[in-house]
Formats: sequence, C-alpha cells, structure tokens
Amino acid sequence: FAALKSTRGVDVYDPPSDPHRPERLSLMSELRAAIDADALELFFQPKLRLADGQVDAAEALIRWHRPGRGMVPPEMFITVAEETGNIGRLTRWVLAHGIAHAAELIHAGHSIRVSLNLSARDIGDPGLPDRVAELLHAHGVPASAIALEVTESAVIGEPEAALQVLRRLADTGIDMAIDDFGIGQTSFAYLRRLPVRELKIDKMFVQHLATDPTDRTIVRSLVELGHRLGYQVTAEGVEDAESMAFLASVGCDHAQGYHVGRPVDFAAFVARIGARDPGGA
Ligand code: C2E
Ligand code: MG
Ligand code: MG
Ligand code: MG
Repeated sequence: FAALKSTRGVDVYDPPSDPHRPERLSLMSELRAAIDADALELFFQPKLRLADGQVDAAEALIRWHRPGRGMVPPEMFITVAEETGNIGRLTRWVLAHGIAHAAELIHAGHSIRVSLNLSARDIGDPGLPDRVAELLHAHGVPASAIALEVTESAVIGEPEAALQVLRRLADTGIDMAIDDFGIGQTSFAYLRRLPVRELKIDKMFVQHLATDPTDRTIVRSLVELGHRLGYQVTAEGVEDAESMAFLASVGCDHAQGYHVGRPVDFAAFVARIGARDPGGA
C-alpha cells in the first residue's frame, strides 16, 4: 500500500488493510463512479515476438484518470477494489473494453492478440467463463484473439476452485498465462495441472539482465524449463537492447518492456503497429 499511503498522506501506523478506513471508502466510491462514467482507460503495451521482431500481441493495462490526481496507477486501486468487493465490476469493465478493442484491431486488419489481466479474486468467480464467452460472441472475436493473465498468487489461494474456472476458460479456447512467474510459490506439481500456455517471467529477473549474471542464469533456466514443459515464455520488464539480445539468444519467445514500447493509449498503439506493418519488420 505504499503508493496509497504516500499519495494520500496516510501515516504508516494506520492499519494497512482495514476496508472501512474513510480514505478507502471515498476512493472506492470515486472508483465506482469512474467505472460508470468510463473515466477508466486501457493502455496497450506491445509484446514482440523475438524470432522475427514482429509485434504480434499486446497487454492491456488499466489506467484511471482521477480528477485532480492525474493518472492513478493500477496497483493502488486494484488492491482497494479487491478488498472492498468491487473487483468484479472492474474486471467486467476491463473484459468488455478489452474485447471491444480486440474487435477493433481485427476489423482494422491487425493480427494482434490482446492479453487482459485478471485479479486473484476473479478466479473464484464461477460466472466468469460464461461472461467472457458472451462478450467474445457479442463482439465477434474468436477466443484465440485474446489471452488472460493471472498471477501465481491468484491460483494458490483456492487451488481447486481456481482450477475449475481456469479449465472452463481454457475450454472456450482462450490461452491462459501465468503472470509475474518466478516470484510466487506455485509448485510445479500444481502448475502442471493448470491449463496454461504461457509463462511471463517477472520483471524482477529481467530488468537487470544486462548487468547481473545471476539473473541471466535464472532467466536462461526458466526459459529452458518452460519450453521443456511445453509453455510459451515471455519476459516482462525488458528495458534495454542487451537484455533483449540475451533473451533472443536463449530462445525466449516474447519480450515486453520499455525497450520494446511503453504502455500507450489505444490510438497511439494502433498508430505504432500501423506504422510498422508496411515495412514488414
Ligand atoms: P503486470 O500485469 O505484471 O503488468 C506489467 C507492469 O509492468 C505494468 O505496470 C507495466 O506498465 C510495467 N512495465 C512494463 N514494462 C516495463 C519495464 O520495462 N520496466 C518496468 N519497470 N515496468 C514495466 P502497471 O500498468 O502499473 O500495472 C501494474 C499491475 O497492475 C499489473 O502488473 C497487473 O498486475 C495490474 N493490472 C494492470 N491492469 C490491470 C487490469 O486491467 N486488471 C487487473 N486485475 N489488474 C491489472
Ligand atoms: Mg499482466
Ligand atoms: Mg507481470
Ligand atoms: Mg505485476
């Protein structure tokens, strides 16, 4: 809650997770109003296929234009939404808008898969798979045009319930990804039961690849292990050319990070991929 505290000037000895704190309640009612008023926006960050340098995917990342506070980063309000029982509304907004943008990309002739983030709580919602299927149908988007990211912590909370929801999502043809891989506590015994196609190596191991030999060893091993188990592997937090070259050399499938491109609004993202297409690479 560091961001929340520093932004709101709350003392450090305040109980960090009391959902009844007035600040959190007002933040929450503002967020609910923002959802209704569409004051939220999805930014898009490119994912580059290292084999040929093409951007063939993007991750949608939520932003909140909060009046008088600028752009509020998600880590602050996602946690509050989770703790106050409002994450379902937020996720419905993200799914609806993310899938609508995926439809726009298809209609503009782009072949870009859109990854959407789910919160840990969403994985406990048995209504989620049907809702996603309905949205895909309503927008005429094939399941293969989106992917859903969940963190390791999301799946260890309620392993069996999560497994059922993930399986039903995967059954609809949506590829699932484990986000922030490597920093959580998922055992491989559990991981291998999940219908997951992609591992996203956490940026903690990726950001310093250029200078840290230990990180290079970890990432090389995770890529190899991931491939041997049949996963696609993405590295997130790729911040420089050296790191990207290293990832290509160890056969990592996708790179995502500031060096490839920062998250930008949808129009800027479309302009970027449009500008790349004619050149062919
Ligand atoms: P994430 O899903 O792991 O997303 C990657 C985060 O790393 C994003 O932060 C992105 O802006 C940032 N990032 C990308 N490239 C680099 C880089 O090269 N260096 C560094 N230092 N950072 C980089 P962001 O947008 O602030 O999102 C933070 C987290 O909030 C996300 O982590 C995700 O867990 C959550 N989140 C974002 N959007 C949504 C959403 O729509 N729904 C839910 N439930 N969670 C979301
Ligand atoms: Mg993610
Ligand atoms: Mg991540
Ligand atoms: Mg993260």
